Amino acid sequence: MTARTLNLDDSLYQYLLDVSLRETPLLKRLRDETQALPMARWQVAPEQGQFLTLMVKLTGARRILEVGTFTGYSALCMAAALPEEGALICCDIAGDYNAIARRYWQEAGVADRIDLRLAPALQTLSALDEPGRFDLMFIDADKANYPAYLEHALRLLRTGGLAIFDNTLWSGRVLEADPESADTRAIQVLNRALKDDARVDLSLLPLGDGLTLCRKR
Ligand code: CA
Repeated sequence: MTARTLNLDDSLYQYLLDVSLRETPLLKRLRDETQALPMARWQVAPEQGQFLTLMVKLTGARRILEVGTFTGYSALCMAAALPEEGALICCDIAGDYNAIARRYWQEAGVADRIDLRLAPALQTLSALDEPGRFDLMFIDADKANYPAYLEHALRLLRTGGLAIFDNTLWSGRVLEADPESADTRAIQVLNRALKDDARVDLSLLPLGDGLTLCRKR
């Protein structure tokens, strides 16, 4: 028995997937297709996608924002859990991968719930004049802007709304003492600041590369 989070070796991780992953054949196909791309590491882990599905249902979210969409796996996980009248605004920049996302959303029958806005996310978020109108926000884009995305999340989410940041353990690079990478520094800044941020309730889950959950107070 242990009173700390387990270190999952390959076989225990495989077990976790075997007994709990409910990935649809469509999601599996999307994941496989994405795996062949040079930026495949941008894709969320399948158990993270399933976790996002659960979060949408648990929070009863109707309006969701996603920052960083890539080939659309996480967006598909969340959109499929939305009610019929729900809506998901996705922020990403233009890339070849946009078409893959749209193709799978179409096939899944959720394309009409998703509004993909192709521009720098800070630009899209700044233009959203709907304070307090969103229930959930998933943030998985350029890490250097994570602190700025937090401020947008706190503006755009309703009280009780949930912001979820991916990659907050950053493959362990958060431990670097004096990182050269602006991305690493920004994640460190965000993590440290959240610890004492009285505006949110907080939990950092070691799921995938680290998922930080912030509930707006
Ligand atoms: Ca990620």
